[in-house]
Amino acid sequence: MTVLRISWDEETMTETYDIAIIGGGPVGAALALALRGSQMKVCVLEARTANAASSDARALALSYGSRLLLDRLCIWDALRDVSSIRTIHISQKQSFGRAMLRAAELNVPELGYVLPYPALQGALTEALQHSDVSSIYGASVTQLKSEADHAAISYQQDGTEHTLHARLAVVADGGKLLAQQYPPEVRDYGQSALITHITCTAPQPNTAFERFTPQGPLALLPFKDGYELVWTASHQTAQEMLTWEDAKFLHELQIHFGDRVGNFLTVGKRTTFPLGLKRAPQQTPMPHTVLLGNAAQTLHPVAGQGFNMGLRDAWELAQEILDASPETLGSEAMLAAYRALRRTDREAGIRFTDGLVRLFSNDLPMISAGRAAALTALDCLPFAKKFVAKRMMFGANG
Ligand SMILES: Cc1cc2nc3c(=O)[nH]c(=O)nc-3n(C[C@H](O)[C@H](O)[C@H](O)COP(=O)(O)OP(=O)(O)OC[C@H]3O[C@@H](n4cnc5c(N)ncnc54)[C@H](O)[C@@H]3O)c2cc1C
Repeated sequence: MTVLRISWDEETMTETYDIAIIGGGPVGAALALALRGSQMKVCVLEARTANAASSDARALALSYGSRLLLDRLCIWDALRDVSSIRTIHISQKQSFGRAMLRAAELNVPELGYVLPYPALQGALTEALQHSDVSSIYGASVTQLKSEADHAAISYQQDGTEHTLHARLAVVADGGKLLAQQYPPEVRDYGQSALITHITCTAPQPNTAFERFTPQGPLALLPFKDGYELVWTASHQTAQEMLTWEDAKFLHELQIHFGDRVGNFLTVGKRTTFPLGLKRAPQQTPMPHTVLLGNAAQTLHPVAGQGFNMGLRDAWELAQEILDASPETLGSEAMLAAYRALRRTDREAGIRFTDGLVRLFSNDLPMISAGRAAALTALDCLPFAKKFVAKRMMFGANG
């Protein structure tokens, strides 16, 4: 696709881009990389300063489908500190019924992978810096407006106010910039996730555990010598858990999770994240503008879907842009095509995670028995297993 590279709006003397991506987190950066070499003038505006390593403590479970996309972006081989998931063990506390998903049964080499958020962020940022995309760091976007034929973006950098124009503005900032103007639908689960690294006496290689409990899901994701723990609880309990002595923490975890991986031995630094569902009513809230990743939908981390879905957002938007004729960039026709492309996968992903949290976060006896039956059925019925695993790995469009 060839687009005229106009650098300045001659009337206003404002720098002009074809595409401006607001937020160089993992989703914004992935979109920018997918547009490398397209001859379009693309920039990423990122609030972090250049080379500032992300201090985000979360680990991400990437699906096998995400690995294939990261391969196509030539990022996969640059990733360090990746552990594989070949089996997922799903159970619920205080009840029978469990299901096992195994890569071999599903004809894929791995079901997924675990890596720290900063490792992914670092590899994407490094690749961006060697690309033809302009990365503008320390640039905090303060305003986005749509004009007749472009979006106008104001940002602050080193205490100075700047403006640029873009035919398409992509908001991948995690969801704050337009939240007041276009409030998302919010479901507060009343839960926080406590995350940390733990070691134990009998780790099961390449096996992830998802355990549903009345206070929320608990996940153990295999990583290096132990597991990345994601333990959900009420906000208050999660705050209390931060203050527990290590011995008490490990003891409580043992009671909560059981002994499938032996005895818990050590626990690392603990951090909490408040959880909730935020869904922007419209992925294209105003002309020349698309919301991507967490800015479009912030999901509960159960089943590790958030980034995986954001990456599919980025990939499919890039294909839409690259396949469209140059004049349509940022037009309503292009935005409508993107909305249609993403509708099924997005809605299915939101329903899936929201449904899991609401169905499993209670201890009503009838519902508990129904869940146990559902887990047993999932374990016994190959077509059900394939359906669920395919959705988790590739989304609803896969
Ligand atoms: C505890 C927890 C565990 C999770 N586990 C998983 C998992 O296992 N698997 C999975 O797929 N997902 C998981 N997620 C979800 C995943 O972290 C998010 O979906 C993903 O980080 C979204 O990426 P993003 O780029 O859209 O947004 P973000 O990661 O929020 O990045 C946004 C970027 O925009 C920048 N920015 C913000 N505001 C501005 C501004 N005004 N101007 C310029 N730049 C700005 C920020 O500095 C940042 O770099 C988890 C989430 C949590 C909380």
